[in-house]
Amino acid sequence: DRLIAAQPQADEGRVDHAIRPRRLADYIGQPGVREQLDIFISAARGRSESLDHTLVFGPPGLGKTTLANIIATEMDVDIKSTSGPVLERAGDLAAMLTNLQPGDVLFIDEIHRLSPVVEEVLYPAMEDFQLDIVIGEGPAARSIKLDLPPFTLVGATTRAGLLTSPLRDRFGIVQRLEFYGIEDLTEIVVRSARLLGVDTDRKGAAEVARRARGTPRIANRLLRRVRDFAEVRGDGRLNAEIADRALNMLHVDRHGLDHMDRRLLLAMIEKFDGGPVGVDSLAAAISEERDTIEDVIEPYLIQQGFMMRTARGRVVTRLAYLHFGLTARDDVPQ
Ligand code: ADP
Repeated sequence: DRLIAAQPQADEGRVDHAIRPRRLADYIGQPGVREQLDIFISAARGRSESLDHTLVFGPPGLGKTTLANIIATEMDVDIKSTSGPVLERAGDLAAMLTNLQPGDVLFIDEIHRLSPVVEEVLYPAMEDFQLDIVIGEGPAARSIKLDLPPFTLVGATTRAGLLTSPLRDRFGIVQRLEFYGIEDLTEIVVRSARLLGVDTDRKGAAEVARRARGTPRIANRLLRRVRDFAEVRGDGRLNAEIADRALNMLHVDRHGLDHMDRRLLLAMIEKFDGGPVGVDSLAAAISEERDTIEDVIEPYLIQQGFMMRTARGRVVTRLAYLHFGLTARDDVPQ
C-alpha cells in the first residue's frame, strides 16, 4: 500500500475513531468552510429546522466524512452513512430514507457514483421530502408515494464537476475543501499526537506536516509510522531529526512525494519530453488507472506546481525538472 495514499487503509478505522474531531471548534483549518457552516448550523438550529442539503467536495483525506459527522453532532441529530456505489438499486436508497428520523443527516460518500435510477429517487426526496418509487414489475407494478421526514443530505465527492447538474442544483450549501497549509497540518499533528499520547515537539510535528501532502489523513498516518520509529530507534520522543530519519527511510521525500509521484513526473519528462500529454496516454505509460491519476496523484502535484493541466494535456514545470536535478528546455513553463 502507498504510505502517502489519501484513501483510508484497512487498519485505520480504530485509530481514526480516537482522533477524529467531533465538534466544529475542533476542526482545524478551512476557516471559510468553518465560518459558513457555523452560521448556517446556528441559523437552522435557531429556526428549529433541518440544515439545507450540503455538498462537500475536495480530494480524499481532507475531512469530508469528518465534516458530515460534525454537522450531525452540531445539529444534535443522528447520521446514517452510505456511499454511491453501495446504493445499487432504488430500493437500497428507499430503505435508507424511510429509516430517517426528523432532522437526521444522510451522508452519501462518493455521491457522484450513484446510478441514474437511484439519482431519480433522490431528487423528489431532496426537494419535497417525498419518496416516489415503483415496486414490482410489468402489469403488477405500482407506484407508491410516501412522505419523508425533513432531513439533511450531506454528499461528498472528490470533484464537483463529476455530479450531474440536476443533482448539484439541489444542494443549498456547497463547500469546497482545500489542501491544508503547513501551519494547520502542524496543528493537526500536534492534536493527534496528544490524543495518541505521543511526546512531540513543534518542529517534529512540522516535519511530519511538511511531508503530508496537505492532507490530514496522511499526516495522521505518517505520525503513527514516525512514532514507531521514535520508540524503536529513539527514546520515544518525536522531534524533527527523528521525523526526518523515519520519513527518509520510508521514501517520503522533503516535498512529500513518493515513488508513484516520481514515476508519473519522470514518465512525463522521459517518455513525453515534458508534455503536453493526454491523461490516457499517461495512464498507459505508467500502468495506472486514469481515475487514480486524476483523483489521487495529480491534484497534489498540480497544487504544488510540479505539473499543470492545459487544454492540450498535462505538462511538467521547471520545478519538476529541478526536483530530479535535471535541466529543462527553455520552453518548459515555470
Ligand atoms: P475524507 O472523507 O475527505 O476522505 P476524513 O473526513 O475521513 O476525509 O478525514 C481523514 C482523517 O483526517 C480523519 O481521521 C480526521 O481525523 C482527520 N481530519 C480531517 N480533517 C481534519 C481537520 N480539519 N482537523 C483535524 N483532523 C482532521
